[in-house]
Amino acid sequence: MNFFAHHKVSFVDYPKKISTLLFVSGCNLNCAYCHNASLKKRRVNKITERSVFEFITKRQNLIDAVVITGGEPSLYQDEIKDFFIRLSAAFPTLLKKVDTNGTSPGFIRDISAYADLISMDFKTLFYEKYLNFPMDVILNSIEELRKTENYEIRITMYPEYISPEDFPEMGKILRGTKNIVIQQYRQVDNVKPYKDKVLNDFSNILKSYAENVYLKL
Ligand code: SF4
Repeated sequence: MNFFAHHKVSFVDYPKKISTLLFVSGCNLNCAYCHNASLKKRRVNKITERSVFEFITKRQNLIDAVVITGGEPSLYQDEIKDFFIRLSAAFPTLLKKVDTNGTSPGFIRDISAYADLISMDFKTLFYEKYLNFPMDVILNSIEELRKTENYEIRITMYPEYISPEDFPEMGKILRGTKNIVIQQYRQVDNVKPYKDKVLNDFSNILKSYAENVYLKL
């Protein structure tokens, strides 16, 4: 499997681990705050699997985990599954994480047998309105995620997509969730990020629904 980009060392993309980050190109959503806008379209993936394996072989003492992000990894479901199988055969102790926007419950179901951690976005209560995508598919993905061993749900606090009135309803949807990460939106347009207090308030609401709530301010 080839990749669009390779960010060799990351300290923030796998909880408490040092990871190497692989990007796939192409996405089936069009979020207004996307920081990887150049990856929304499918492009030629020039980073070869061989070069990734060579890098990991050289840095085995440093790298704990491989993270596949995007773009949207679920568009590469079968390739990622096969890549993870080859990765596990070559590096049995290496952890494997995949990020997803949650648009494919089948991807979550399938890849959970091969990934050590799945991180899914929950972007808004109004997928139809803002992202032209059916909300019930996202709810199915959350259900699939809850059946897996190790997962987190990431909420990016983009004020256009999430308002404080939505917090209680989002909490109810996430009732019983293991790990939730609330992250600050990094400004890309003229929409100002919420103040940290708003994120703290949301975190306090979610704490009564989820096992662990982490804040990334
Ligand atoms: S799902 Fe992720 S990669 Fe796709 S448009 Fe949204 S933020 Fe960008």
